[in-house]
Amino acid sequence: MPDPLDFTGKVVLVTGSSRGIGAKMIKAFGKHGAACVVNYVTDAAGQNKSDAESVARELKDPLVIECDVTQPAQVESMMKQIQDRHGGLDIVVNNSGIISDRTIKKMSMEEFESVLRVNLTGTFAVTQKATAILRNGGRIVNLSSVSGQMGLFGQANYSSSKAAIIALTKVSARELARQNITVNAIAPGFIDVGMSKGLPGEVTANFIKQIPLGRLGDVSEIVNAALFLASPMASYITGHVLSVNGGFYMG
Ligand code: NDP
Repeated sequence: MPDPLDFTGKVVLVTGSSRGIGAKMIKAFGKHGAACVVNYVTDAAGQNKSDAESVARELKDPLVIECDVTQPAQVESMMKQIQDRHGGLDIVVNNSGIISDRTIKKMSMEEFESVLRVNLTGTFAVTQKATAILRNGGRIVNLSSVSGQMGLFGQANYSSSKAAIIALTKVSARELARQNITVNAIAPGFIDVGMSKGLPGEVTANFIKQIPLGRLGDVSEIVNAALFLASPMASYITGHVLSVNGGFYMG
């Protein structure tokens, strides 16, 4: 029986894959045989570029593309580079995201809108432009969050963006089904890498008390969910939100 997690011959793009969950995810797809596209957004210090290059060093024949997902022209150019190199795309993971917590009372419009712009508009732009080059049988996996399912204190911007990603996932699933493309979301809980690492110790401890499995999630547990949703094992699953949260939220 063929290995369902063998992605040989598949082209995978993970947005925001220079660090955090995205970096682990693209490396995992690479280990499972995929042709990988690493994406980073440029920063003044050049840190993201060097991070992306170090991720790429662990991959066979990678494509490393600078692209700010909030800029449709850059997203279009990223898809063109993928098309030129590989002739198409099979799997997209909309992973890029930012956080900027503040209570509603103190949050500026820019703090609200900037998070929506990256998390939601970025996911829309990548989905829209990817559609032109996604092959029949393609997969889109969007990163939502438990924050979008429950609404967390201080996250009016982030929770709203992640809730909207759930709606966007369902709309995309309906519209892209005719191309035999499935679209699903992963809603992680608190993961021991990336954004959740920045939380104060007592906040993390308090969340852990409320997690039935009694611990933060390991990044591999999010990566595994993405591998599954991108694999033939998930061929009849679309428009679904897969919670990977240790039981923190069971809606
Ligand atoms: P990180 O902040 O570690 O990584 C996010 C990545 O996205 C970074 O590489 C970041 O670049 C990149 N990025 C930000 N803005 C853009 C942009 N405009 N264009 C392209 N890339 C961009 O976060 P995590 O790894 O923790 O999170 C990954 C995803 O998982 C996010 O969507 C997040 O919301 C979601 N998630 C994470 C959880 C967690 O506990 N870690 C829980 C629930 C959901 P830069 O380095 O410049 O910031």
